[in-house]
Amino acid sequence: MSSSLPAAPSTPTVSESGASAIEVSSAAQRMHIVSDETTQIADMVLDYARRRLLSTDTPLDKPFSPAELARLASGSIGESGIGARRALALFENVLAPSCITTDHPQYLSFIPSAPTKAATAFDLVVSATAVYGGSWLEGSGAVFAENEVLRFLAREFGLPASAGGVFVQGGTVGNLSALVAARDQRARQLSEAGRARPDRWVVVCGGEAHSSIVSAAHVMDIDVAIVATGESGSLRGADVEPALVEHGDAVIAVVTTAGSTNFGIVDDIDSIAALKDAHDFWLHVDGAYGLAAMLAPGSRHRFAGVERADSLIVDPHKWLFAPFDACALIYRDPDHGRLAHTQHAEYLDTLTEAADYNPSDYAIQLTRRARGLPLWFSLATFGAEAYREAIEISIDLARQIADEIARRPYLRLVREPQLSVVVFERDGWDARDYAAWSDRLLDDQHAFVVASSHAGRPNTRFAIVNPTTTFEQLVAILDTMG
Ligand SMILES: *Cc1c(COP(=O)(O)O)cnc(C)c1O
Repeated sequence: MSSSLPAAPSTPTVSESGASAIEVSSAAQRMHIVSDETTQIADMVLDYARRRLLSTDTPLDKPFSPAELARLASGSIGESGIGARRALALFENVLAPSCITTDHPQYLSFIPSAPTKAATAFDLVVSATAVYGGSWLEGSGAVFAENEVLRFLAREFGLPASAGGVFVQGGTVGNLSALVAARDQRARQLSEAGRARPDRWVVVCGGEAHSSIVSAAHVMDIDVAIVATGESGSLRGADVEPALVEHGDAVIAVVTTAGSTNFGIVDDIDSIAALKDAHDFWLHVDGAYGLAAMLAPGSRHRFAGVERADSLIVDPHKWLFAPFDACALIYRDPDHGRLAHTQHAEYLDTLTEAADYNPSDYAIQLTRRARGLPLWFSLATFGAEAYREAIEISIDLARQIADEIARRPYLRLVREPQLSVVVFERDGWDARDYAAWSDRLLDDQHAFVVASSHAGRPNTRFAIVNPTTTFEQLVAILDTMG
């Protein structure tokens, strides 16, 4: 492979760098001790982080091809290091600009991210303190603070004070962990009642459920009963009940979607939760994107019924303004999570035999970063009210731009927005037209808006979670479609 990197300089030794107070016995220790060299590295990296965090003109940037990156960035890994200055320059000049700026106000694809400055800054502290977030023994203070946030969220969602859980990597792992706990609980129930286990377990969800539910079912080797939702896309109790009757004891959970990723549609959770009066089932609420909107007073009513959930998830890295990666997984009864997920091993006995709250016991994971801390710090800093307002801003903006789309003769709303996703079509465009338009927007560094589709018809969508996105910015994007 060709490389544009100059040859690595000879490795400087600590004695050359001067002022180490510690006698260094091996080159290896040089990486770990405090010295002029490591002080300079820390300063350089923190200075870059500070510049990037406080930059107001970071472009959207765009992906480079593998060939381009091979040409521009190969050769950094070898027996001798290239030094922090060159490694950081490589990141700043080549690697970072080939990553799309996901917190850019005109990044409107998929579900963007929009971490607060406080949350991002504190993410550096989580690393600097080397906190282990898996056990109370090792990380009690961090676990306490994370649990404060989980308790705050549980209260917002109407769950009892005894609810609890853990921050996991993302919604996919959160959904999988919840469904594993649900299956475990169902198996325990059946065995206690002396009833037979079914041949196949079943999870019930609506047609707009996120792909991670099917993926979880695949990992668990269980079946998915996908229930049709009708025109509105919102799953209702009446749609779900026949599946409960048909599959009976085999149903491990009903998954409701509190804000679908495609449209931001909230299922009719209330009518589904009401089925609990007549049927015994685990209700899981997948609110990875949308459940955050329950913090906004004007949208709270859409989520009635969440308070009866047995488990739920919400991703702070989506709409609760935390950096990647964090999903809050909350169980109504955390014991169900613990019974399903605690790992047992001789070297862990001292942890598992204690009565402590060990976050690792509540999901599929063992070692874990205290990834809830950036949200804790930001929420503690600014208070919940600022969060409510920031979420409401995006919901209002979605409404406003939907009205603007409806006013334009060449555009058509596919659905009225409920939360902050707006899906629309351009008259006469096929999938290639959307793709070419999307490429042009990114090439011009104007916006990142990708093509999507619904029921076989191509479309595009704005997913808005960044409170600094403006109406004028969105209008300017619509103008490019005229
Ligand atoms: C994004 C999303 C997921 C998956 O979450 P990740 O954090 O990307 O793993 C699951 N469900 C819904 C509704 C989502 O929007």
